Amino acid sequence: MSFEEIYVAGRWRRGAGALRESINPADGSVVAVHGTAGIADVEEAVEAGRRAAADPAWRDMMPHLRARLLHRIGDAIEADADGIAALQTADTGKTLAETRGLALSAAGTFRYMAAALETMDDVLTTPRGPNLTLSVHEPIGVVGAITPWNSPIASDAQKLAPALAAGNAVLLKPAEWTSLVSLRLARIVEGAGLPPGLLSVLPGDGAVVGDAIVRHRQIGKIAFTGGTVTGRRIAAAAAQKLMPISLELGGKSPTIVMADADIDRAIAGILYGVFSSTGQSCIAGTRLFVHRSIFDSFVAQLVARTQALRVGPGTDPATQVAPLVAFAHRDSVAGHVERAVAAGAEILTGGGRPVGEGYAGGAYYAPTILTGVTNDAAICQQEVFGPVLVALPFDDVDSLVETANDSVYGLACGIWTRDFPAAYALARRIEAGTVWINTYKQFSISTPFGGMKESGLGREKGRDGIRQYMNQKSIYVGMDPAPLRWA
Ligand code: NAP
Repeated sequence: MSFEEIYVAGRWRRGAGALRESINPADGSVVAVHGTAGIADVEEAVEAGRRAAADPAWRDMMPHLRARLLHRIGDAIEADADGIAALQTADTGKTLAETRGLALSAAGTFRYMAAALETMDDVLTTPRGPNLTLSVHEPIGVVGAITPWNSPIASDAQKLAPALAAGNAVLLKPAEWTSLVSLRLARIVEGAGLPPGLLSVLPGDGAVVGDAIVRHRQIGKIAFTGGTVTGRRIAAAAAQKLMPISLELGGKSPTIVMADADIDRAIAGILYGVFSSTGQSCIAGTRLFVHRSIFDSFVAQLVARTQALRVGPGTDPATQVAPLVAFAHRDSVAGHVERAVAAGAEILTGGGRPVGEGYAGGAYYAPTILTGVTNDAAICQQEVFGPVLVALPFDDVDSLVETANDSVYGLACGIWTRDFPAAYALARRIEAGTVWINTYKQFSISTPFGGMKESGLGREKGRDGIRQYMNQKSIYVGMDPAPLRWA
């Protein structure tokens, strides 16, 4: 499959931007050359989207018929799951098990949104006068979806499926490092029968193509997942248009181990929560708080288990920790750790590139555990987005809550304890959009997801996920045959 053509306004053609190479971070080889968009492509995509979204054949399509189309897309993604996984593993370095899971999750997202769409009732509100009063929902028109590189097809689907279910047209701007799978998704969606113009996939520089989408006056909403700095920029641009946005941003999530925790479960959950996806996960549990009474023994066991993790290429079924997405990103992760060490952090394991045959040519970084710092250290406050965990002891719950909440982020939290009432009480005090108790990094498309504080704005997923892509309208129908009394 060639990636030189991009999907603009229902046509495959070269974009106005330059061709770019996509690099396999496992060995530095070129996966493919792909096209990118320019401002003129954004203009054409918006105009086609506007027309396609206004076409009664789409705008007024019965929900159960639109749901059928979403099911076809879900089925087609599932049928191509192995191909998508292989492409995404080459493009991102991730393990095949993870990328296959992301493809199946994307298929499930389309099916869930299809089902939700068929049960999305509008409301006849309680009358307070001689009127029939209705609250109905309508498509926004053309929306922009801007996605990051860490779980491409799943992030794309989380925006595309509800936006299409709601009856919109979508301009999708994938991340520059991982555009290939979004272009493949466009082929799948087109093949499933989405009418032309309703989807354009526009790879290219975020600051150029992404910014043009955000600022375009015909774009009625932006759904964004990415870093907090970019999210703030988008929010500022959206304020000028008073445009609704949803922002899924960064995190620095606390994981808490109480003295009575089931140690085996906690260790397995913490390892998965921070080192799966090589730590490139917004919800990674990167700040580990362990009760002081068990701190030394718990951390020693965690270090031993970390050293046993298998680091290798994503194509090896035995691999648990794959390369980072790009060499530049590996260097950024290394920079965070070097600065932490210079500021007094102690390395318990990792702290550099793994040594051994096969690692030299790839963007590998060893799973790393640091300690010896307090929560106000940069390494505890800044998102590293790599396989780096900081372990901190705590003494009592009140000071723990204060320290865990002492972060600009509020995305997720893990709590490990056998005392469920205590866990529940703690969960309610932690500033996080998602809290996992005796588990971590579990997701369900039916459960809303999003962040507090600088981790985001709005929620994705869940039945109401579709509503985020709709305008609500109230309709009053006068039922009293007599003229209004005032006149
Ligand atoms: P990023 O640098 O913010 O980029 C995200 C997307 O925004 C990319 O497509 C990027 O394009 C685009 N972009 C950049 N500047 C833009 C601008 N001025 N206007 C419009 N779009 C622009 O984030 P990333 O490095 O790709 O992803 C990692 C971040 O995403 C982490 O902070 C992570 O925590 C966060 N994340 C959050 C969630 C969540 O659900 N909360 C999930 C996954 C990831 P380019 O690629 O061309 O720069």
